[in-house]
Amino acid sequence: MKKHLTIALVAHDQRKADMVSWAKYNAELLSQHHLVCTGTTGGLIKKAFDELGIQADITCMNSGPMGGDAEIAAMVVRHEIDLAVFLIDDLNPQPHEADIQMLLRQCRLHNVPIACNRVSADLMISSSLWDDADYSPAAQTYVKFDR
Ligand code: PGA
Repeated sequence: MKKHLTIALVAHDQRKADMVSWAKYNAELLSQHHLVCTGTTGGLIKKAFDELGIQADITCMNSGPMGGDAEIAAMVVRHEIDLAVFLIDDLNPQPHEADIQMLLRQCRLHNVPIACNRVSADLMISSSLWDDADYSPAAQTYVKFDR
């Protein structure tokens, strides 16, 4: 697998504190990669990294409700995203539910690892498979199942 990753980071409002805390915990690691974020999430991560004196390559898309999730989903379709961390607010309805489902579906469909909680994010970002030149993800199959 390749070593320089493009990592999507998206957090709903009530999960932004968790995302900033997670990004700070993994700041050294994240600064080695290209980060693509929805607008507000990216701005908060930039500010947190500035305070830590960490330089990072962060691209901010539109804010989520204004199409940022949809822009990132389009990048997934074009195979431009290697890993996504998507901290979803499961306790409150979101105006852009359709875009949220689209991002989740495109990640599943295109075999892009997507972490929706912090433990998953920690495990995915620290996987030794990223450094394994012999590993390549197996293609997914959608085969009719006859009972
Ligand atoms: P935001 O978008 O980072 O611009 O708030 C996140 C979202 O709601 O999907």
